[in-house]
Amino acid sequence: MEQTATKQTINIDDGDPPLIRKDMPFCMSQSIPDPGAPKRSRASSETSRRGRVAKFRKTYFPDVTKEMWDDWHWQVSHRITTLSQISRFLTLTAEEQQALEHAQSGFPFSVTPYYLSLIDPSDPNSALRKSVVPSILESFTSPGESEDPLHEENTSPVPGIVHRYPDRALFLTTSFCSVYCRYCTRSRLVGGHTEPLESHWKAAIEYIRNTPAIRDVIISGGDPLTLSDEKIEWLLKEITSIKHVEIVRIGTKVPMVLPQRITANLLRILKRYKPIYLSVHCTHPDEITEESSKACNSLADAGVVMGSQTVLLKGVNDSVPTLMELYHRLLKVRIKPYYLFQCDPISGSAHFRTTVDEGKELIRGLRGFTSGYAIPQYVIDTPGGGGKVPILPDYEVGRDENNLYLRNYEGKVYAYPDRAEEGTRN
Ligand code: SF4
Repeated sequence: MEQTATKQTINIDDGDPPLIRKDMPFCMSQSIPDPGAPKRSRASSETSRRGRVAKFRKTYFPDVTKEMWDDWHWQVSHRITTLSQISRFLTLTAEEQQALEHAQSGFPFSVTPYYLSLIDPSDPNSALRKSVVPSILESFTSPGESEDPLHEENTSPVPGIVHRYPDRALFLTTSFCSVYCRYCTRSRLVGGHTEPLESHWKAAIEYIRNTPAIRDVIISGGDPLTLSDEKIEWLLKEITSIKHVEIVRIGTKVPMVLPQRITANLLRILKRYKPIYLSVHCTHPDEITEESSKACNSLADAGVVMGSQTVLLKGVNDSVPTLMELYHRLLKVRIKPYYLFQCDPISGSAHFRTTVDEGKELIRGLRGFTSGYAIPQYVIDTPGGGGKVPILPDYEVGRDENNLYLRNYEGKVYAYPDRAEEGTRN
């Protein structure tokens, strides 16, 4: 049947005409994104990646053995951090050069040789390059942006702890990361230009111990998996010995940027302190390589439960094919896509931020076109410290006395009998 309501025309498979909410934009002619459209061949992109990585190593690190390359300490100590160093590897644009000069005094630049080997040296628009190589646009602050948009400082009862939700506490353990993401929410803290967070560990653990409401501790930073095995073990031992702490989560980008860090000894430690959850920060399908897949699979084998966290970034991962490929690849390495974050309005982030409507369209292009397991929750961490709010495309298109009308992934509208009426005996 066809029903005309206000200005819109919708097709309903059965049931009574819905009352269209006047405030709800609804357009049946909206095109549904085609998730199969411009998809790269995985086999060919993996082959070209391997070729590029092999060439990269032969050109720049000819004397570095496989053992050295696979050693995370070697990767960390050979990070590329300055304009003159990176100029050897990438053909920099004038704008990138200027931004790198600026990064010497502001939010630092750092990339591991491994991660750099994944970046196309001749393409300034490649996704991984944009996410780690500074842009001059970082130095412009737009309205609504700030250094601490989530007001973490206001919900910090003791240094190193952010206690925003009743039963969870965020424990900032280090300001170091092996790779610095240009859109980092904590760029005010990370990069080693603040007081070392380690000096606050004991007081932070004391706070958790004295706050029985905390049942979930998120060890974050910086990147906590860049700490030594001894320090990670000390933290896990202390935190898991607190009776009211039920689970420990670790927020990290290490499996994607420094997969060599997932050593047999680290796995042994993580195994000892179950239940450990890992929130793995992933940005783009190009990060899921043979090396990162091996790291993730060994973490899963050690009993670590993994979910992904991805920041939605303009020009990096803001397309349905890219997100779908990322989520499919994550599932294959046993990481459940967990959160897709709307990019926080940190200072200098305007060039990375999509609109929320664009984000909703991306989720609409995933839902129904792939399994629910491959779809994360799209959230905004509300500026001002209000916490995460889930954002959904407009699937509810109206209701009447008895029914709720829902639009499915194909754009068709179906009625759900929302008010159970008295039945008749069969
Ligand atoms: S890994 Fe996390 S903490 Fe480190 S720079 Fe990236 S977003 Fe920030």
